[in-house]
Amino acid sequence: MEVKYCSSCGSEMETRDVDGTARRACTACSFVHWGNYSIGVGALVVKEDKVLLVRRAQEPGKGYWTNPGGYIEQLEPIEETIRREVLEESGIEATVRSVVALRDQPRNIHNLYVAFSMEYVGGQPTPDGVEVDAAGFYSLQEMETMNVAPFTKWLVDVALRGKSEGLIVDENPVVPLTGYGLFRV
Ligand SMILES: [Zn+2]
Repeated sequence: MEVKYCSSCGSEMETRDVDGTARRACTACSFVHWGNYSIGVGALVVKEDKVLLVRRAQEPGKGYWTNPGGYIEQLEPIEETIRREVLEESGIEATVRSVVALRDQPRNIHNLYVAFSMEYVGGQPTPDGVEVDAAGFYSLQEMETMNVAPFTKWLVDVALRGKSEGLIVDENPVVPLTGYGLFRV
């Protein structure tokens, strides 16, 4: 569907050549509609070779076991979002260690999913009773008889058999960079 009005100032949009590509752009301000995107974040919390999973109580994916996660917020750092989602959905406190996987899904709303390796800090798995109705740490063997979502199986493999630590949080960048969340090799 074509974007009719500017989401920044409310004026009419037009189709215009922007650096060689026809894009919807505002007739009154500098706003350009680049596309529709969404970004999901997911947590891989491992404890004694078991991975934290939750069972979805709502669509999409109702009844499937997945790793905890959600969508990012406009002004919240993604590290904070994933920490909060894990705590809300499963009652587990965990902190971000690194980025270990990405999933790119080009479609109507182009989705990017960022998977974090997280350090278990504390808490007992407790489902929130709304988004998820069960939570726990499970071994690969236990997962064999569970309804684990296919993408989650891929992530569990990354969590348990990953060959690298991934992109590590850089808390002391060589130059001062404020307002960024930085992850690096
Ligand atoms: Zn505008």
